[in-house]
Amino acid sequence: MIAANFHHVTRRYGIGETAVAAVSDVSADIVSGRFTVLSGPSGSGKTTMLNLLGAIDHPTSGSVVVAGQRLETLRGNALSDFRARHIGFVFQAFNLIPVLSAYENVEYPLTLLGVSKERRHADVLDLLDAVGVAQHAHRKPGELSGGQQQRVAIARALASRPALVLADEPTANLDSATGAAIIALMREIQRSRATSFVFSSHDPQLLESADDVIHIRDGRVVSVERNVSPEVVL
Ligand code: ADP
Ligand code: MG
Repeated sequence: MIAANFHHVTRRYGIGETAVAAVSDVSADIVSGRFTVLSGPSGSGKTTMLNLLGAIDHPTSGSVVVAGQRLETLRGNALSDFRARHIGFVFQAFNLIPVLSAYENVEYPLTLLGVSKERRHADVLDLLDAVGVAQHAHRKPGELSGGQQQRVAIARALASRPALVLADEPTANLDSATGAAIIALMREIQRSRATSFVFSSHDPQLLESADDVIHIRDGRVVSVERNVSPEVVL
C-alpha cells in the first residue's frame, strides 16, 4: 500500500534567471505503515518535500498524491479539510498555541473537526497518556520542557488519526538524550497505531531507526533504502 506518492514533481521558487528548483523531477513512493526519513544536507529540499506532502505548498509541475487524493485537484475549504483530516504535522519549533494548556492544544484539532466533547475528552487523555505527559495536561507550553512540548505536539499531530504524520527535523531543537527519547516514542507510536510517518532529518539516530530512507541532494532523489525488518511485511 502506498500512503503517498510524488510523480515527476518539480517545485521552483522565483522567476527567470534567479529561479531555484528546490525539488527537481522527484518521483518517489511513501509506503503505508512505515517510518520514512527524508535525508539530505541543509538546502537539499527536505522541508519543501514535506510541505508538498502536507499540501502547504504546491508543485510547479508534477503531481503529489496522499491517501489516494491528487492534491492539485483540491482548493480552498476542500484543501484545508483534507489537511485537517489526513495530515498531522510535527515542527522543529513545536508550534504549540502558547495560551492553551497541553490538553487544549491536543483538543483543538478535534474541535475543528466537530468531534463531540465526550469523545474529545477520551481521545485527548488517551493521547497525552500515550506520549507520557498526562500528568501535565493543565500546563501551558511555556511551563513545559522542550521534550515535553514536542510530546504534546506529537499527541496533537495524531489526534485526527491522520493517514500521514509529517515531522520536519523534530529533534533539531532538543539535546541528544531528549531527541533519542522522542524518536523512540514516535517509533513506538508509529508501530502501535500502524500510522505512516515521514521525517526530515540528518540525525544519524533517526536514520538508524527508519524503515525507509529517501536520500536527497540538490532537490533530487539519489537513492532509496528500504530496510526489511522481520516484523514488517510489505
Ligand atoms: P532543507 O529543508 O533540506 O534544508 P529546503 O526545502 O528548505 O531544504 O530548501 C531547498 C532549496 O530551496 C534551498 O536552496 C532553499 O534556499 C530554496 N527555498 C526553499 N524555500 C524557498 C522560498 N520560499 N523561496 C525561495 N527559495 C526557497
Ligand atoms: Mg528544512
